[in-house]
Amino acid sequence: MEFLYEGKAKRVFKGENENEVVIFYKDDATAFNNLKKGTIENKGIVNSKITEILYGYLEKAGIKTHLLKVIDERTHLCQRVSIIPLEVIVRNIMAGSGSKRLGIEEGSPLNSPIIEICYKKDELNDPLINDYHAISLGLATREDLDEIYRETLKINELLQEFFKKCNLTLVDFKIEFGKNSKGEIILADEISPDTCRLWDMSTGQKMDKDRFRRDLGNVEEAYLAVLQRVTKEGDQC
Ligand code: UDP
Repeated sequence: MEFLYEGKAKRVFKGENENEVVIFYKDDATAFNNLKKGTIENKGIVNSKITEILYGYLEKAGIKTHLLKVIDERTHLCQRVSIIPLEVIVRNIMAGSGSKRLGIEEGSPLNSPIIEICYKKDELNDPLINDYHAISLGLATREDLDEIYRETLKINELLQEFFKKCNLTLVDFKIEFGKNSKGEIILADEISPDTCRLWDMSTGQKMDKDRFRRDLGNVEEAYLAVLQRVTKEGDQC
């Protein structure tokens, strides 16, 4: 397979068809814009499976995603898209850099979900921008942003509902969108404990990448527990 690109958590190859790519999920873990590096054993397997289940659930609810087929336990066949260079972040509860930036204690509830957009540029640490930047810099049009926000709020509702049934609170998450060959905006990349903050609803325990970021231990165990809960819920819907 012809190699196309290597990211922090994935390797991307050309598919047989020019409108398809093959995405391989690695075990590499990074945090704080690559300052902290490590490995989470079997993370690639766990995150690709969680993404597969969540994308299947979202597709059923009418959300278009890039996932076409599961090739093996670490590899997905996906639609080739040109990624819109925005990290779209949704916050339901204040945490992480959101808490730090606004001086609001982690765990504080919010009156309504907050959507933030960050310009995908590693060398600048993915700076927070607004719609005016995105449009003026040519990253997305007004229409693109309207569609992205509409889809993002729908995805948030659906994921909150799903994770609640897994006894997990969806604190915040990051998603990315791309444009396919037909010009449609579709959900791309992954949804996993790498990209979501998930807190156990009974104990408040962190079940996501914060265990790696903050050296809380039991990282693999937390990712596996999320996979088990998501698999059980996925089987029922
Ligand atoms: N996030 C991500 N990739 C990034 C930045 C953030 O997946 O490059 C996710 C992160 O895991 C969390 C949410 O987006 O679930 C909000 O992250 P935040 O802005 O609070 O940044 P952090 O505290 O993770 O630096």
